[in-house]
Amino acid sequence: MGVFEHAEYRGHEHVAFVGDEASGLRGIIELHSTVLGPAGGGIRFYPYASSDDALGDVLRLSRAMTLKMALAGIPFGGGKAVIIGDPGRDKTEALLEAFGRAMDALEGRFVCGEDVGTTPEDMAVIHRMTPHVAGRPDTTGDTSPTTGEGVYHAIRAAVAHRWGRDDLAGLKIAVQGVGNVGSILCGHLAAHGAELFVADVNRDVVAGIAERFGATPVSTDEILGLEVDVLAPCALGGVLNDRTIPALKAMVVCGGANNQLAEDRHADALASRGILFVPDFLANAGGAISGTSPFLGRDAATVAAQVAAIHDTCASVLDLAETEKITPNAAAEMLAEQTLAAHRGA
Ligand code: NAD
Repeated sequence: MGVFEHAEYRGHEHVAFVGDEASGLRGIIELHSTVLGPAGGGIRFYPYASSDDALGDVLRLSRAMTLKMALAGIPFGGGKAVIIGDPGRDKTEALLEAFGRAMDALEGRFVCGEDVGTTPEDMAVIHRMTPHVAGRPDTTGDTSPTTGEGVYHAIRAAVAHRWGRDDLAGLKIAVQGVGNVGSILCGHLAAHGAELFVADVNRDVVAGIAERFGATPVSTDEILGLEVDVLAPCALGGVLNDRTIPALKAMVVCGGANNQLAEDRHADALASRGILFVPDFLANAGGAISGTSPFLGRDAATVAAQVAAIHDTCASVLDLAETEKITPNAAAEMLAEQTLAAHRGA
């Protein structure tokens, strides 16, 4: 399928297919929008079944980055890159350097960072070839602490909106995926008295979280349909779909994973079940806030204030959704589009 015919194509500014025969690099770099500034986004290294799957993923992820930046008040546009392959098997320094050369050709119109399958150390390798790299170990490093903290603030806002309460004490919260982001989120939730249920395909990780935070381990099959108040998806995307939504028992869904809705229409499916869904691009902006901070000269105190402000943005979006009788997803897109339109006008 061609790019322009793809269901996920929404006026993306720049789509670059990048390859290098010697290292085996096959990737796609996407700049969805540079209206607010240079496009920013992570590099996902993933064994996609086909290049069409990779294209669909990167089209969707890069647009979500545009919305994320606009809502979080970051003067960056939205972009994303994917590298097709198994990071455990195919990731070499030569391949990352080849990717860095392709990045450099964009002359700073895209600033990349880590994502699923890539690490701060990988960013240091890419940085040998291009300065336009965030999240290196010698700069902000791992962005998941701010992402996890931001999701915690979003959950507070959602809980306040749904149940009119300002605390999480005694609330049952299920966290799917307790890797970098999920584990940090668990720390914040446990510290504020939530009762945690956790699942991960990696059993060792689950055991560690259970011990550290008194969480109850649950199987990966059970976690989504668990009888809890809040579900926090923190693994991979597409988790809210025709199969899973009818089985959900949580009344609030708010997590760190990107692209949780399999398709946009699933926002309506959640709403029609009375489930309050906080758009992921709103809840998980903490990493984008900290990752872009060195480029913007923002200090740690400013970053902390902006991460905490995810609570207020989330509250505004949920209020707007209620007033306009639209889904939180549509309300968040509306607010982001207003910011973009103001800049286009300017
Ligand atoms: P991670 O790889 O550290 O953690 C993901 C965890 O999910 C892993 O422990 C993995 O074993 C687990 N998992 C995978 N499939 C699962 C399944 N079916 N059921 C249960 N667990 C499963 O990645 P991360 O950095 O924590 O990112 C998690 C999500 O958050 C991703 O969707 C990522 O795109 C998104 N995100 C991350 C950041 C960041 O700063 N790291 C920022 C924004 C969004």
